[in-house]
Amino acid sequence: MKKEILSVISNVPLTDGIWRIVLDGCSECRPGQFVNIALDGLYLRRPISVSGWKDGVLTLLYKVVGRGTALMTGLEPGDRVDALTGLGNGFDTAVACKAPLLIGGGIGCAPLFMLGLRLPHFRRDRRHVRTRGARR
Ligand SMILES: Cc1cc2nc3c(=O)[nH]c(=O)nc-3n(C[C@H](O)[C@H](O)[C@H](O)COP(=O)(O)OP(=O)(O)OC[C@H]3O[C@@H](n4cnc5c(N)ncnc54)[C@H](O)[C@@H]3O)c2cc1C
Repeated sequence: MKKEILSVISNVPLTDGIWRIVLDGCSECRPGQFVNIALDGLYLRRPISVSGWKDGVLTLLYKVVGRGTALMTGLEPGDRVDALTGLGNGFDTAVACKAPLLIGGGIGCAPLFMLGLRLPHFRRDRRHVRTRGARR
C-alpha cells in the first residue's frame, strides 16, 4: 500500500450514473486491486477497483450512488487526488488456464477489463465470451 497524490487527467460520464476517471501518478496496481480515495469533507475514504493501469496512469470506473461518488464527478483535469494505492491481493494471472471465463455484473465488471488484458490467453487469442444479463 502506498499513499500517493494523483493528478486527474479526465473524468467523464460513460452512461447515466457511470463515470470513468483517469489519474496520473500511480506507481503500480495489479488486476483485482483497489484504491481508497479521500474526498473533501468526508472522513472515510471510498474504495474503487482498478479498471486499468499502465505506465503510471490509472483508470477507474465508478457508479454514482451517494455523497462520495457524487463528489468524485466534480473532479476536473489537473485536480489532485489523495489515494491509497495497491490495496488488496489482486487476481493470480499466472494460473495455467486455457479458457478463462470472467463473470461480472453491473459496475462489478470494472476490475475485469484489466484482468482480461493481463491474462496470457486473452492477450494472445483475443477470444472472449460475452454475455448480457437483464433485471426486471
Ligand atoms: C474493494 C471495493 C471495490 C469497489 N470498487 C468499486 C468500483 O470499481 N466502482 C464502483 O462504482 N464502486 C466500487 N465499490 C463500491 C464503492 O466503494 C461505493 O459505491 C462507494 O464507497 C459509495 O460511496 P458514496 O459516498 O457515493 O455512497 P454512500 O452514501 O457512502 O453509500 C451509498 C450506498 O453504498 C453503500 N456503500 C457505501 N460504502 C460502501 C463500501 N465501502 N462498500 C460497499 N458498499 C458501500 C452504502 O451502504 C449505501 O447503500 C467498491 C467497493 C469495495 C469495498
